[in-house]
Amino acid sequence: MNVERYRDPSLFTGLLEKAIPVLEHACESMGRKIRIMEVCGTHTVSFSKSGVRQVLSDFVELTSGPGCPVCVTDQTDLDGMISMGKKQETIVATYGDMMKVPGTHSSLYAERAKGADVRMVHSAAQAVQLAKDYPSKEVVFLSVGFETTAPATALVVMQASKEKVKNFSVYSAHKCTPPALEALIQDGHQIDGFLLPGHVSVIIGRKGWSFLEKHDHPAVIGGFEPLDLLASIYLLVQEMGKSRRQVVNHYPRMVKEEGNLRAQRVLAQVFTTEDVRWRGFGVLPESGLELAPAYAAFDAKCRYSLEESKSRVIQGCRCGEVIKGKESPLDCLLFAKACTPEKPLGPCMVSSEGTCSTYYLFEREGRA
Ligand code: SF4
Repeated sequence: MNVERYRDPSLFTGLLEKAIPVLEHACESMGRKIRIMEVCGTHTVSFSKSGVRQVLSDFVELTSGPGCPVCVTDQTDLDGMISMGKKQETIVATYGDMMKVPGTHSSLYAERAKGADVRMVHSAAQAVQLAKDYPSKEVVFLSVGFETTAPATALVVMQASKEKVKNFSVYSAHKCTPPALEALIQDGHQIDGFLLPGHVSVIIGRKGWSFLEKHDHPAVIGGFEPLDLLASIYLLVQEMGKSRRQVVNHYPRMVKEEGNLRAQRVLAQVFTTEDVRWRGFGVLPESGLELAPAYAAFDAKCRYSLEESKSRVIQGCRCGEVIKGKESPLDCLLFAKACTPEKPLGPCMVSSEGTCSTYYLFEREGRA
């Protein structure tokens, strides 16, 4: 696959010339800018980093949706995960972004500073290896992510089960993306079209989004290079003009109609879908991936009693609204003042794919 083709400035300029009259016409007929939600943290970063957000800004208002797994993790889950770090003889393993996220009373970094054994890993496989390396300790892997990363977690649970690694467990905060879009639609959002996440779509396929057709909602699956971004917006606007809308797969070099069937089988074997709480949304039906009863021995939520605490979000933090695309980070009074990537108050400023950290890095000129 030649990715450079999707970064070719001449192809981009040629398509932009073609797209502008179409975008202009759509804005004129609506009497406002086109509102598009990108449902993927990587898209949020790509739009800002590539400058495509700026190039389209006269016509398109891009809002970020629930596309950052750390950001959508509810405060109760964060507090539960942080409480794991307080257990004796326990190693807590998790991805880097999770370390800094503030819970109600603490963070994993703060617990580590107090002596907890909290380790950053780059993969689920590293976490199970830790359990093998330290057989006298309990290793709890704090796992967040959408359909993209959940198969890797499922595989290590299967491996731990097969190899009888008894001191390993997973605290799963994995989530499925489609229920969040369904919730946004039911909520009567003001979005003209969804740019669907390419990575998630690799797993669930175009078919995984077909429920959007029932709502007749314009949606395009897109890639992450500048040409992908522009072409996806162009296609979305064309879909908006049709009487019957289909979910368009504009990332066929990676996304198949049925998705990755092997990954889907692994997910179905290890996880069950449960109603779980999302930041900003509340409880969404069948939106969480919890370990199936056959793997309960590896489920940290079954193995350990979690500390009961009253979780609360930081006063003034608008992450819940930012995740639903109802507010921009620039609307938050704490943005770039009390809340910065060095001292984040909410998860959207922590994660490298969080909307607030992306806006802090690329979009805050004259606002700080
Ligand atoms: S700027 Fe900080 S406090 Fe405000 S919404 Fe974003 S993460 Fe929350």
